[in-house]
Amino acid sequence: MKKTVLRKYARLIAAMGGNVQKGQEVQILASVEQPEFVRMVAEECYRQGAKKVIVDFDYQPLQKLNIQKRSVSTLCKIEDWEVAKLEHRAKTLPVRIYLESDDPDGLKGVNQTKMAKAGQVRYKVMKPYLDKMENRYQWCIAAVPGVAWAKKVFPGENKFRAVEKLWQSILMTSRVEENGDPVAAWEEHNRDLAARCDYLNSLGLAELEYKASNGTDFRVGLHEDALFMGGAEKALGSGIVFNPNIPSEEVFTSPRRGKAEGIVYASKPLSYHGELIENFSIRFENGKAVEVHAEKNEELLKKMISMDEGAAYLGECALVPYDSPISNSGVLFYNTLFDENAACHLALGHGFTNVLKDYDQYTTEECYARGINESQIHVDFMIGTKDLAITGITKDGKRVPIFKDGNWAF
Ligand code: ZN
Repeated sequence: MKKTVLRKYARLIAAMGGNVQKGQEVQILASVEQPEFVRMVAEECYRQGAKKVIVDFDYQPLQKLNIQKRSVSTLCKIEDWEVAKLEHRAKTLPVRIYLESDDPDGLKGVNQTKMAKAGQVRYKVMKPYLDKMENRYQWCIAAVPGVAWAKKVFPGENKFRAVEKLWQSILMTSRVEENGDPVAAWEEHNRDLAARCDYLNSLGLAELEYKASNGTDFRVGLHEDALFMGGAEKALGSGIVFNPNIPSEEVFTSPRRGKAEGIVYASKPLSYHGELIENFSIRFENGKAVEVHAEKNEELLKKMISMDEGAAYLGECALVPYDSPISNSGVLFYNTLFDENAACHLALGHGFTNVLKDYDQYTTEECYARGINESQIHVDFMIGTKDLAITGITKDGKRVPIFKDGNWAF
């Protein structure tokens, strides 16, 4: 991939994604797959005026080895220095930039019970710090190809060709073109998404009803104080606008906890903890996932929704047209950042407190008490199909078409 194009992408991540400001600290979380690109992103952060850029490198096979070889109690233990690191983060609120490259099958075969247990115990210790930081810092998730991931997406190619093709797909869907100005393209894209949100927020919707020929027949209750959001977001306190996901095509909100009925069928496989869950359905009663079936990895799906109390409730419903650049690319990425932007989806687990229009007047705990779901997981799964119909039902019972044949109805 040409250096000049990569440079544009790195700049997009630093300037639009994280929107790094003069004097801020930045923390980049990346895999060792593309160190040169990571350096480029760091350079662009400094160009934006960052005073310090720290990189935490990761290597998935090593992560797998650690899970296999360490005892449960060792995996669960959070050392004092880890707590100190979290405290520092909560105090200085560095911009977080995540560069994803992991192999979707990279943790295949590890003991999922062990991993779940460690996740649960560690989350309890981390939670007070995470709550304190919630909505207060800029962050951005973007992706760079890893070899194993690229081979999974393009199995017929040799590893060099596969990585090159994955680069092309990532850049295309992220609106980075050789002769274009990606920052300007994103400014326009943000305006489009904001206009869709304004319309949806003007309707006074109480419920969304989903129907598709694959069997999906489902209703979800919306929160009367929640807004639809999309594209850029604003950090609480500083008011700095940033783009948390590159790419992003979705307009989303968090539903009211406890209000979801019916069954949804997944339209794409779900990569969870380094394994794929395939051809599955989830049935909801009073907002809770009460029955799941999957052709592959059903046990893992069951484990996922029992991670904690909130893991069986919904945290997000997102609207993405079937004709989005990502789904039109025809590439199945096996990565949520991309696949979630190719299809309408729901997420089990954690909701977004900042969808509440007056969330800044409340503590994070109070936002949960008002009906935004709380969980240690937030897992998107795709339900969008070519024939999905979504109807909005307003507070006074009026029906408004939102999606028709998989695409926006307005
Ligand atoms: Zn989403």
